[in-house]
Amino acid sequence: MNEDTTHFGFQQVPRSEKHKRVAAVFESVADKYDVMNDLMSFGIHRLWKRFTIEMSGVRRGQRVLDLAGGTGDLARRFAQLVGREGEVVLADINAAMLARGRERLLDEGIAGNVHYVQANAECLPFPDNHFDCITIAFGLRNVTDKDAALRAMYRVLRPGGRLLVLEFSQVTLPVLRPLYDFYSFKALPLMGRLVANDADSYRYLAESIRMHPDQETLKAMMAAAGFERCEYFNLNGGIVALHRGYKL
Ligand code: SAM
Repeated sequence: MNEDTTHFGFQQVPRSEKHKRVAAVFESVADKYDVMNDLMSFGIHRLWKRFTIEMSGVRRGQRVLDLAGGTGDLARRFAQLVGREGEVVLADINAAMLARGRERLLDEGIAGNVHYVQANAECLPFPDNHFDCITIAFGLRNVTDKDAALRAMYRVLRPGGRLLVLEFSQVTLPVLRPLYDFYSFKALPLMGRLVANDADSYRYLAESIRMHPDQETLKAMMAAAGFERCEYFNLNGGIVALHRGYKL
């Protein structure tokens, strides 16, 4: 990879173009996003997210940023946990995903302590030392400059705060690999075509997972951005990993 290009799935594209390609993917999938998540993961993404919430330790009165929060699976639960005295910011670069999230939370009667902000993870429009907890679930993979994003998250986290990164990772159980490859590269695009009339976006999903840093690399990236006590938990044989780090 030279300096001016980056990967978009398995393709090399100019760095300045990646965010447009990613935007096109999420504009295309926004309406079917929730149903596809349940279908593709057999509902297991709910357990991964529940684990993230448990590991976040978020309490009443705290201020939480759910970055790349999309349709708000984490934000809605955080809104209940922080209560009236707390605050949740659901931030996403993509207006279509953010609109879906906002509609959904309002439909569920979640209002008052949730704010919606269209923002790029690489340059967060929040003050220094502002949040008690930041989560980014299945979002970091899509960000062009992940190091810049991790530094921005570190800046806006208050001392004592923690970052949780939930993301697809590298499968650690060799026995799973052939099945997982078949599922990702054959079944996902087919499901995408049949349900969302969009095979390409789901092919990008499978490819972007393979291009994402593995568990140890991401842990080292978090440490390089300033996070301390970095650790990760493999879920379902490393299909997904939850990374956690603190600003001390
Ligand atoms: N967090 C939600 C979840 O777990 O269901 C949504 C995840 S969705 C796979 C990825 C989200 O990342 C999309 O909503 C997309 O718009 C957002 N995203 C991609 N690049 C981003 C960036 N640079 N900054 C902020 N959000 C970004």
